[in-house]
Amino acid sequence: MNKINMCTRCIMDSTASEIEFDKNGVCNFCRHYDEVLVNDLYADEDGQEKLNKLISQIKEKGKNRKYDCLIGLSGGVDSSYVAYLVRKKYGLRTLAVHLDNGWNTELSVANVEQIVKKLDIDLQTYVLDWKEFRDIQISFIKSSISNIEIPTDHAIWALLIKTAAKMKIPYIIAGNNVVTESIMPESWLYGSKDSKLIKSIHNKYGKVKMKTYPRLTTFNYVDYLLIRGIRWIPILNYIPYFKADAKKFLTDELGWRDYGGKHYESIFTRFFHAYYLPVKFGYDLRKSYLSALICSGQISREEALEEIQKPPASTEILNNDLDYVLKKFRFSPEEFDMILKAPNKTHKDYSNNDSLWRRYRKIIKIVRKRITRV
Ligand SMILES: [Zn+2]
Repeated sequence: MNKINMCTRCIMDSTASEIEFDKNGVCNFCRHYDEVLVNDLYADEDGQEKLNKLISQIKEKGKNRKYDCLIGLSGGVDSSYVAYLVRKKYGLRTLAVHLDNGWNTELSVANVEQIVKKLDIDLQTYVLDWKEFRDIQISFIKSSISNIEIPTDHAIWALLIKTAAKMKIPYIIAGNNVVTESIMPESWLYGSKDSKLIKSIHNKYGKVKMKTYPRLTTFNYVDYLLIRGIRWIPILNYIPYFKADAKKFLTDELGWRDYGGKHYESIFTRFFHAYYLPVKFGYDLRKSYLSALICSGQISREEALEEIQKPPASTEILNNDLDYVLKKFRFSPEEFDMILKAPNKTHKDYSNNDSLWRRYRKIIKIVRKRITRV
């Protein structure tokens, strides 16, 4: 294997194939971070002003409706903090949607219940049809592409937009944010918006008919986001967002409990981050999350380097998760071993909307601005 080179500012390295370094050894992800920071982050007075204006707009539009806004609630830090902001800090009448894909940990369910109770938020839990969803997840694992979380992420995104349309709620307030999530190599994870990819992978490897799985086609995107004008507001980009402070606040004030890892509220997600990606692909997503925290000044590079030396989860947890995942999917150890050893593939090996979206990327950029900016 070639020598692994690491950025001198963050901890991204040449395990991301698209990485490039400038003459000071700073990588293109850092440069990208600085660009999105300028374009997408308003965590200063200007941001507060924009946000105040938006909150009044939301309240104005919400008159005569049951809810002002919709949020997705996974029970993780970001979405729980969004719940607090919209409900308590800004007083919005909020509907929360929680997706049960069959993998949530008991702790995440307890956290969701605790948050909605403490904040007095109405909750709708959507339970995916397990037989169907299991078949879609198995198809993704058999496809040998890296992002086997696409079926879950797409379902959450589709569920939120469809619920907003059905309940006539014009604003979805989301927890995605620049300061902790803006460094992610596309070679590691292809995005989850592409329902054509889901369909083609499921057509190839699936056995159960796809009937109830929430999906958004390109037509749906145009319909919901452009024609019906549903807005998607990443609220954490408009405030100074410090993850460690948010965690402490949630723990002290709302009785929320920590998971000990980003997105570890789901057993499948933990398995995906801590086992599947490192073992099959050699990717460690902690590098990208920690790098974003370095770039946003929340931790030092030294702290991140120390953190990354630790295993992503204890051997006991990893073994238990592997055992659990295999049983739930009814894979024999031999069968799963073959999957891990099969040649790795990318979304390009299946039909997808990537080239279509690339062709219209300028328009999409403008539309994205319109939908997500305050
Ligand atoms: Zn870097």
